[in-house]
Amino acid sequence: MLPDLERLIQLQQLDTATDEARRTVDGIPSRIEDLDTRLRASTTAVDAAGTRLGDKRNKRRTLEKSLAEVQGRLSRFKEQLMAVKTNKEYTAVQHEIATAQAEVQRLEDTILEYMLEADDLAADVEAAERALRAERAEIERERATLDAERAEMERRLSGTSDERVKLTEHIGAAARQLFETVARQGRGIAVVEARDGHCTVCHVRLRPQMFNQILRNTELIQCEHCMRILYHDPAGGGARAPEHDPAP
Ligand SMILES: [Zn+2]
Repeated sequence: MLPDLERLIQLQQLDTATDEARRTVDGIPSRIEDLDTRLRASTTAVDAAGTRLGDKRNKRRTLEKSLAEVQGRLSRFKEQLMAVKTNKEYTAVQHEIATAQAEVQRLEDTILEYMLEADDLAADVEAAERALRAERAEIERERATLDAERAEMERRLSGTSDERVKLTEHIGAAARQLFETVARQGRGIAVVEARDGHCTVCHVRLRPQMFNQILRNTELIQCEHCMRILYHDPAGGGARAPEHDPAP
């Protein structure tokens, strides 16, 4: 293989790996934000469950105050009953007592109902807290993985610029210039494999004579369509030329 072509292939591999590492590093903050969003959702669920429980308990306390008032009224009516002078008064106080007793019953029933509902709501709070603990642990794990990934990518990136300098030192000036120009125009991809008679990036069908030249890997040949430098990878197969060109 032409030495410059071989080094350009290595240079491309290095640039592609560098690019991927940089994209991974750049994408990490938004992945951390996603984790924070998940944690906030779980925290909000705990808060909401706590609020529902608190509301229910407040309502119960309000009813308990009403109950105490009605019970106070009831005992005053019972005292009054001892002191009545006439049948009419007796009937009236009896009526008040019956009304108050009905009210006590109603309040006690509702208070009991609220207590049962509060038990369910307390269970909801516990479940939400358990879910939050599990989510927090999971998020810690995922965050540690992201931190490790970032450290690994940054470690890789720190070595690549020296590696690139060393590699380019051994590439002829013309080849290096060609690589940089094509890479700039081709979104960082300057060297690509030709396979089965086609450019593997723009997929254009190569002229058979040109493809045969590429198979030899002895010169720098550019795709006539996307301008990228083409090579043949003997290990990857793909030496088969298309059987015939499509009609012009
Ligand atoms: Zn092409």
